[in-house]
Amino acid sequence: MILVTGGAGYIGSHMAKWLHQAGYPVVVFDNLSTGKRSLARYGEWMEGDLNNPDDLTHCFERFPIRAVIHFAARSLVGESVRMPLLYYQNNVAGTLNLLHAMADAGVKHIIFSSTAAVYGNPQQLPIPETHPKQPINPYGRSKWMMEQLIEDAVSAMGLHAVSLRYFNAAGADPAGELGECHDPETHLIPLVLKAALGKRSAITIFGQDYPTPDGTPVRDYIHVWDLVAAHELALQALLAGELQGYQVFNLGTGKGYSVKEVIHTAQRLLESEGVSIPVQTGARRVGDPPVLVAKADQVQQVLGWMPRLSDLETMIQHAWCWEKAQR
Ligand code: UDP
Repeated sequence: MILVTGGAGYIGSHMAKWLHQAGYPVVVFDNLSTGKRSLARYGEWMEGDLNNPDDLTHCFERFPIRAVIHFAARSLVGESVRMPLLYYQNNVAGTLNLLHAMADAGVKHIIFSSTAAVYGNPQQLPIPETHPKQPINPYGRSKWMMEQLIEDAVSAMGLHAVSLRYFNAAGADPAGELGECHDPETHLIPLVLKAALGKRSAITIFGQDYPTPDGTPVRDYIHVWDLVAAHELALQALLAGELQGYQVFNLGTGKGYSVKEVIHTAQRLLESEGVSIPVQTGARRVGDPPVLVAKADQVQQVLGWMPRLSDLETMIQHAWCWEKAQR
């Protein structure tokens, strides 16, 4: 069985569905602090908290777990600046408890949901896995600490682990069952679509004076379905013994889109439905680098992963179907 921590969240819920459809038995473990029970539609369900070691012990006793895919974490940069201890408690201490529980249960394989935020401000572009790790906020620092905890556990405890550093996850389940529903929502594409539906008055462009071709920041968006596909490839390789020790891969496409390109693409796609998107301009958001684009060749070469749905139109279309269904 595969344990998906945080499986009631945006990416974790897609992972549970993907694994279920690929024939893996799954158990979803989530404390519902930010996840939604309604998103945990696949596999066994266990409500539990990584900060409660008894919940973990119970989970590993109850289910015959072979590997862990670890998504459960707080992930808002601004919140992490206001509440750093919450981030270190939840993300770092939670991961420590998880590693203890894995050691007790003799579980040797873990895939960890990391982030491009571990790099901080890019010193080279596209960003390779070897780029210096200088996170600039508590969220990024917590994720970098989690990676280091896992790497140390690999050498000391004979674990085999893969950290996947996500760039900008976007889109929704192609079948329309799952999607992004953060509260508050901070991500660009769902906010653009909420403005299109009148759920928000407008989308605000945070800064137009960046050193980029159109003045707005460039990000490497990756479809959530492509993202979870990469996890399954990593899982297969770990379970087959083809990936050993500690490995790290960026998960992005290597192609960036600006904020304006995202908004214009959404405007063009939604025009046929008679929908227009109110846009306003605002100040820069603190801590946003001008460009974040992955050097994404490693995951393609080693795991044979290819992005299939990560073109901007498809990500926006899938997110749009989901957003409309939430009315
Ligand atoms: N952004 C924006 N308006 C918004 C939300 C985001 O202009 O209401 C910009 C943000 O400044 C960044 C890009 O969109 O350059 C992607 O932001 P998001 O929060 O989706 O992801 P991040 O790159 O911060 O992980």
